Amino acid sequence: MKSTNKLDALLHPKPIELPARTSILLDKMYPTIPWKEVTSYNGLPWFMSKTSAIGTAQPSHFIKTRLGIYFKDFEGLSPNSQKSVLIHEAYHIQQYYDLKTSLDWGFYNKFMRLYFAWNLQLFFESFFIKRIDWKAAQRHAYRQHPMEIAAYDHEANFYAQINHFNAHEVGVFLRQFPRLIVQQAQPIERPNLFFYGLGTLITLMIAISRPVIESILIVVAKVTRI
Ligand SMILES: [Zn+2]
Repeated sequence: MKSTNKLDALLHPKPIELPARTSILLDKMYPTIPWKEVTSYNGLPWFMSKTSAIGTAQPSHFIKTRLGIYFKDFEGLSPNSQKSVLIHEAYHIQQYYDLKTSLDWGFYNKFMRLYFAWNLQLFFESFFIKRIDWKAAQRHAYRQHPMEIAAYDHEANFYAQINHFNAHEVGVFLRQFPRLIVQQAQPIERPNLFFYGLGTLITLMIAISRPVIESILIVVAKVTRI
């Protein structure tokens, strides 16, 4: 994509051509994910560009069936970290598919509703009840999030064997460590109903407003040189 426009670049992160071996690993490690529907990008979604996230997995809000894995700076990561972050984000893609229903609509899907609900619930418990400071409560809400714990566990299990992966053919590696093959993500505990309602409301608001804001920004990017 030819672009001298910062806003345009922010709105359209560049797709990453993953090394063939890494794509084979994803395919064999997560055999139930339709990988043709998932694209990896170098650059976070624009509304996350100022956060400390190094990667994220999100559904497309324009094309119903598409999902994206976004890296803050793919090239800046070591080859081992690239694989490790990718495996973590791919676990979220698995969670997304496990929770998918025909009523999903852009950001409005069960994965996002549960993600927001647990995040808010854990933050509320630590900030308002346990009186932990704001930053620590945010960290707690992220690292104790059941959807993150499962993804980090899987990432750590892979990372513990990464030298084996680097030294062996993908099929041989997964035959050595069959527990790394994910047919289904771990079931997610139900959050408190109040926070699930709040998560649903926030997800719905984002699902409605994001395509509108993004469409406006795309037009602005086309007619300006910001
Ligand atoms: Zn994660």
